[in-house]
Amino acid sequence: MKIAMIGTGYVGLVSGVCFSDFGHEVVCVDKDPGKISMLEAGNIPIYEPGLEDLMAKNVAAGRLSFTGDLANAVGDADAVFIAVGTPTRRGDGHADLTYVYAAAEEIAGALQDYTVVVTKSTVPLGTNRQVKQIIRKTNPDADFDVASNPEFLREGAAIDDFMRPDRVVVGVQSDRAEDVMADVYRPLFLRDFPVVVTDLESAEMIKYAANAFLATKITFINEIAALCEKVGADVKQVSKGIGLDGRIGNKFLHAGPGYGGSCFPKDTKALARIGQEHAMPMQITEAVIKVNEEIKRRMIDKVMDLCDGSVNGKTIAILGVTFKPNTDDMRDAPSLTIVPALVGGGAKVRVVDPQGKHEGTKLLPGVNWCDDAYKAAQNADALVLLTEWNEFRALDLKRLAKRMAQPRMADLRNIYSTKDVKNAGFTHFATIGREGF
Ligand code: NAD
Repeated sequence: MKIAMIGTGYVGLVSGVCFSDFGHEVVCVDKDPGKISMLEAGNIPIYEPGLEDLMAKNVAAGRLSFTGDLANAVGDADAVFIAVGTPTRRGDGHADLTYVYAAAEEIAGALQDYTVVVTKSTVPLGTNRQVKQIIRKTNPDADFDVASNPEFLREGAAIDDFMRPDRVVVGVQSDRAEDVMADVYRPLFLRDFPVVVTDLESAEMIKYAANAFLATKITFINEIAALCEKVGADVKQVSKGIGLDGRIGNKFLHAGPGYGGSCFPKDTKALARIGQEHAMPMQITEAVIKVNEEIKRRMIDKVMDLCDGSVNGKTIAILGVTFKPNTDDMRDAPSLTIVPALVGGGAKVRVVDPQGKHEGTKLLPGVNWCDDAYKAAQNADALVLLTEWNEFRALDLKRLAKRMAQPRMADLRNIYSTKDVKNAGFTHFATIGREGF
């Protein structure tokens, strides 16, 4: 099969590389010439474990190429995937569909033989129908169908998620389009990964409902954690105790500093907006958005309390600023709320992150970047573990405590045991929903 992938971001690049690994002939298109030259030189513009090697393998096999020329890539493709960004529109929380519609228009002008135009981007209800109309209007003679194929991969584990998905969702309007999608995903169908074939609207809704549900689950346990702190319960034990219930499940029950990232914040806002537009308020999702903001702000109070009420003039070492480990993505990361508040409160902030520096330098002005946790902790008044990168999971706590001016720690990912932290010589320890000191 010949596939054109429009957009080489986290989703487009991973999908394009993985489709080529299935054996398809894939051309990845991006309007950012910088990204295309990097990719042509064999480098990837994002950090995603395993992606560069898999890309090199498929480029060498002649199945994968990169271009800025959308028309050429689309011309002889059997399926064209739209994987461009759908960020939050300024002001109203709606998903900004400018990039999707612009891509649809460009694709329309380049269509030749029968093609399925597939939206992989996360888009509100009705967008696929709108894409169809745009293509029909721009190129009335085009022989095409549209399909909705939302993506569920997680950054940091994207290749495995794409190659071994919990399910593939395909929204179609015709058997012909369904057949093309079956050919695209045949290697997964053959290995019995579940495929859910739906109409366009249901596929669009599945993506928002899934993300809103996961954001709700995280926020629920974060709120329970806050109550645990008040009543002397331990949220780790509570998570375990409820997660073993098969109806609840143990995933997404780790209390932390609030959800962030490229999807949950914008997708919950977009779902809330869709609900408002249809006079069917998504009250649970709206509450989740509000509570998550409060949780992030509560983290600022936690650090303030750790520092006896004020961070003014104090040196704070922050471990991890990306929204989760194994990605360089900083979009809507909790660090973007917490770090500026500390800087604004007069703290001297030092930051360590294995992959976050490139983006973080632009987004977190006024901080000093360090190479490792021990350098950041030197003479610091507090250490804040914000993102649980592997290299922060087995720190030598004694070594850290010894070099700090004030051995105080906030573990916002519940990695370390209270006993170990105390034994290492820390004098103050803040946690999420369990005993500190
Ligand atoms: P991204 O911002 O990383 O990448 C989008 C890319 O599209 C950019 O490189 C941009 O230059 C390119 N682009 C925009 N318009 C173009 C055009 N007309 N022609 C060619 N290239 C164009 O975005 P992302 O994180 O990959 O997300 C893409 C979509 O997938 C979003 O809708 C997102 O919600 C969804 N999604 C993301 C994730 C994730 O973990 N990042 C997971 C599932 C779904």
